[in-house]
Amino acid sequence: MEYQQLADEYINGSGELYEDRNPASLDHVLAKFRLFTADDVERAFENAERGFERWSSTPSPRRGLVLMRAGEIMESRIEEAAKLLTLEEGKTLAESRAEVARSSNLFKFYGALAFKHGGLTLPSSDPSTRIITIKEPLGVVATITPWNFPLSIPAWKTAPALAAGNSVVLKPATKTPLIAAMMADVLTQAGLPHDVLNLVVGHGGSVGHAVVGNESVAALSFTGSTATGMYIHEKLTHKKRMTRLQLELGGKNAVYVHREAELDLAVEIVMKSAFGLTGQSCTATSRVIVDRTLESEFKAKLSGALKNWRVGPGLQPEVNMGPMADGSQFRKVLEYVELGRQEGAKLYYAASVEGLAGGYYIGPHVFDGVTRDMRIFQEEIFGPVLSVTPAESLDEAIELVNSVPYGHTAGIVSRDHNAINRFIDRVEAGVIKVNKPTVGLELQAPFGGFKASGTVTWKEMGEEALEFYSREKTAYMGY
Ligand code: NAP
Repeated sequence: MEYQQLADEYINGSGELYEDRNPASLDHVLAKFRLFTADDVERAFENAERGFERWSSTPSPRRGLVLMRAGEIMESRIEEAAKLLTLEEGKTLAESRAEVARSSNLFKFYGALAFKHGGLTLPSSDPSTRIITIKEPLGVVATITPWNFPLSIPAWKTAPALAAGNSVVLKPATKTPLIAAMMADVLTQAGLPHDVLNLVVGHGGSVGHAVVGNESVAALSFTGSTATGMYIHEKLTHKKRMTRLQLELGGKNAVYVHREAELDLAVEIVMKSAFGLTGQSCTATSRVIVDRTLESEFKAKLSGALKNWRVGPGLQPEVNMGPMADGSQFRKVLEYVELGRQEGAKLYYAASVEGLAGGYYIGPHVFDGVTRDMRIFQEEIFGPVLSVTPAESLDEAIELVNSVPYGHTAGIVSRDHNAINRFIDRVEAGVIKVNKPTVGLELQAPFGGFKASGTVTWKEMGEEALEFYSREKTAYMGY
């Protein structure tokens, strides 16, 4: 489907005109469309309420069939979707294909779970009573998503929400609405009625604000920065209606290279975790804590690997890392590189991007001599900037990993079973990776951050995600 046609069909606001551009080549406009106004958002919620009546009364296995079909259609459109994802967000084509494949599987997984999404039968202490529980949808749920996984995050919220019988209002990031429109197109092709999934496109301060404030929102699932999440959390407390809230937020993830680490594996893991997806992943590694005895050798091997790391337009097959997603990200990362210098860290490695004009290109950067009090150690940068900090012992390393406000993901590279288990027990993070990159999650496993990385109330993905989108009724059946 042509990009302009996709926009015309699914992004039909009546506000300001917006040009969706390719971050690898800024002259390339993918499509133009009008953003939504507050009135357009209101209309979307009215549609969603109508959609809810119809969808919630559709038997759950039939809803499941629609979702499974959507998964198959998305799989059959993988090349088309991956190309659009790369053109709109900037990641490499290989990364985009993996994201489309995951999104396709999310629809299949939650489609299958819809067949068995029911309640429990419990014994009663009264011989003539049976107790049952019934899972029900909540109503209209709102989802607000970021640009870094612009297909899979909308998919991992939309699929369980629909499986449980809700209708959805989805506000994708303003940078990446076309790929969300393609997801809506896939669902329409699979048979989802138009008013069950409602896309609202526009800036957080206007459209996002209108979504959060709408009184028909039964539940709100948000993924994005901690600052926006905290703002939404505060805003919901002033609403008349109580709204169930799920926040998945920022991170400052660390990999610990333990004394018993296999160094080549550690370098491979850090390369993928820090510079894959241009460092723009909530699970990305931005800190390496390395055992002091291995520090020099680790850094030498890391800079060797970095010399072969290619930056460029994501559509070129030999490229390992695409551009930053937009101008604000680009400027933010350069400001942090400057800040690192001013704070006294040493810029150990800075890749040149000479010859790459016309897009938001930044190569990998590695700082060493980074201490825990520095802002580049504490704050989320969300780009290809890595800091290296030595540790004398496992205890000190765990303390360093935990000494930031976030608790999203952490990793350890080691062959020492005892150290690995102590690390798992004592690190405060929602996901721990052992001898594996911090990036990369499986959809059947629950996922969610601790501390400033999330609300810790509900998990995303896995069977657990259905709980956020359902309520449970208990019936006592006398006979
Ligand atoms: P963001 O600025 O917080 O934006 C996220 C979404 O919220 C976008 O759709 C944005 O709209 C919207 N928004 C912004 N201000 C709003 C407001 N006042 N009211 C309602 N909605 C508002 O985050 P981002 O820069 O897109 O994404 C990067 C962040 O997401 C990083 O911190 C990253 O760690 C985090 N992230 C977390 C996870 C996770 O699972 N924990 C996964 C991926 C990313 P606009 O697009 O118009 O700004």
